[in-house]
Amino acid sequence: MTEFDSEIHSTPGIRERGVEAPADPTEPVPPRLVMSIHAHPDDQEFSVAGTLAKWARAGSTIVSVCVTSGGAGSNEYTPPHMTRGGLALIREEEQRNACRVLGVAEVLFLRYEDGMLEPSLALRRDLTRLIRRHRPAAVVCGDPTLRFYGNFYLNHPDHRATADAALDAIYPSAGTRLIFPELIDEGLEPHRVASVFIHGASRPNTFIDITDVLDVKLAALKEHRTQLGEWDPTEMVTQWAAEQGKSRGLDAAEAFRRMVLADP
Ligand SMILES: [Zn+2]
Repeated sequence: MTEFDSEIHSTPGIRERGVEAPADPTEPVPPRLVMSIHAHPDDQEFSVAGTLAKWARAGSTIVSVCVTSGGAGSNEYTPPHMTRGGLALIREEEQRNACRVLGVAEVLFLRYEDGMLEPSLALRRDLTRLIRRHRPAAVVCGDPTLRFYGNFYLNHPDHRATADAALDAIYPSAGTRLIFPELIDEGLEPHRVASVFIHGASRPNTFIDITDVLDVKLAALKEHRTQLGEWDPTEMVTQWAAEQGKSRGLDAAEAFRRMVLADP
């Protein structure tokens, strides 16, 4: 931490534009109520399931939002006779089972079309509605700016669209009364989300130690049978967790860019 960083950090209320919060060596206290927002069944399990399992065990109430029901599947393991509707039903059940393993309290599906998401105002409104209804202290979502993972994976457009709409719903839509006034008519008052945990970010500042719940993360991931087929993800997921924990001396971690938007 530089002298300048420490000065900014120790002055409540002052966050100069362009100055990022320094990496925090201590883990944040598990938020009381968390909303996890992702595009497809299994996204959450690959990316943030360890953190959610850990927080659920510490007493957090977690609501999981899946924007699509994964009806497009994957070519490898989707039988040729399968329909989008048929697969969506199976994958919703897999997502509910995975969430049960993690200790997630509630799973919600917005049932947008898999593979066709846009960061539309309709999606932003739907996510704003859920944030105002459930009033989470923290939201966990992806990074909309992430286009490339190394040289081997182009980030899925649904992931980018969901993350974009989620962040725009968090700020300014959820907290501003006169954005989406129709939500006020539904009885949904503004709500300010205190912090956002963004996974996949290129410059993470928060590392959650998932060593004790890595097995829970893997068990939840394995509930997505239609996507994994015979493949065992243990080696890959364990390696990811080791890579994310390395800079902190942790055996297994999930790394986030944490944005603190309001005092909890
Ligand atoms: Zn996905």
